[in-house]
Amino acid sequence: MGLLQEITELSHEFGTVEYVRGGGGNTSVKDAETLWVKPSGTTLCGLSEGAFVAIDRKKIGGLYDVQSPKDPSEREALVKDVMMGSRLEGAEGRPSVEAPLHNSLSAKFVVHTHPAIVNGMTCATDGKAACQRLFPDALWLDYIDPGYTLCMVVRNEIEKFKAEKGVEPAMIFLKSHGVFVAADDAEGIRASYHTIMNTLRDEYRKANISMELTVGPDPDAAVAAEAKGSVTSALDGIAEVDLSLSGDFEVYKGPISPDHIVYAYSFPFVATPSPEAIKQFQQTNGYWPRIISFNGLVFGAGETRRKADLALEMSQDGALVTQLAEAFGGICYLTDRARNFIENWEVEAYRKTQI
Ligand SMILES: [Zn+2]
Repeated sequence: MGLLQEITELSHEFGTVEYVRGGGGNTSVKDAETLWVKPSGTTLCGLSEGAFVAIDRKKIGGLYDVQSPKDPSEREALVKDVMMGSRLEGAEGRPSVEAPLHNSLSAKFVVHTHPAIVNGMTCATDGKAACQRLFPDALWLDYIDPGYTLCMVVRNEIEKFKAEKGVEPAMIFLKSHGVFVAADDAEGIRASYHTIMNTLRDEYRKANISMELTVGPDPDAAVAAEAKGSVTSALDGIAEVDLSLSGDFEVYKGPISPDHIVYAYSFPFVATPSPEAIKQFQQTNGYWPRIISFNGLVFGAGETRRKADLALEMSQDGALVTQLAEAFGGICYLTDRARNFIENWEVEAYRKTQI
């Protein structure tokens, strides 16, 4: 089987809702000269062999030799320019922002995902200690801003790990983000994921924590229509929205991970919606709410139906992560500084236009 065929199969296998939501996660395969990586703004499950962006490994490695600008947006622009300039002739699409990180690992296959089962640990207060206990051979990294900083820090940490242990890490857990799995063959990727998921499932079982999110029954049509009407009129003049509706669940109350911020935003609106209350929310947070929870119902809201669906799906994922994190000391939200970085991040803004 060809390399691209193998990475496409892996992308589909690890592109299910158990592992990623929306356009989250990324995969790559490489030989000595070329890295083929998932394009930004695509989904793992929808990838085809021809979609991978071919990158010159030497050129993208040049990113590490450039003097880094102090201004964060200049830094992100630099990564973008180097990445776009590293594409082989004829390559289309914008390479995933994590492409330099994929390139830093010498293993042939890299599969990066954000499973709720894993984030129950990486987003928990005692996640680091749990990771060291459960996965002693893995590399754990404290929270790092996505993009340029992530690529630079991970590269250094991989070098340190190699110097200490004589091998590259096969698993890299990123606090409040997800996991990278690297191996020289597809079976190695599957084996590592099998270990990760089963080890964590055992922990949740031992802690007596359900791995399913409890969602209340769908409301009857009349109740749903009335609730929908009050959300729409509360948002009147602020945004034209499509809505996605579900039965009740315990919505998350703060920024969980970059992807949760991107798709469902950091904070939900939990009250009966009125124009005044929505305006107040907007003044406090700088955006109108994507998650609205009241009367035993939860709405996802977005400019399109797809965005509304994704907001709701991501909110449920975050609620499940919050539930699972109880096994490791409870949920640990991102700091205001980390949250602001994501909320102002150009690359994520780009990705949102793609969904
Ligand atoms: Zn990620």
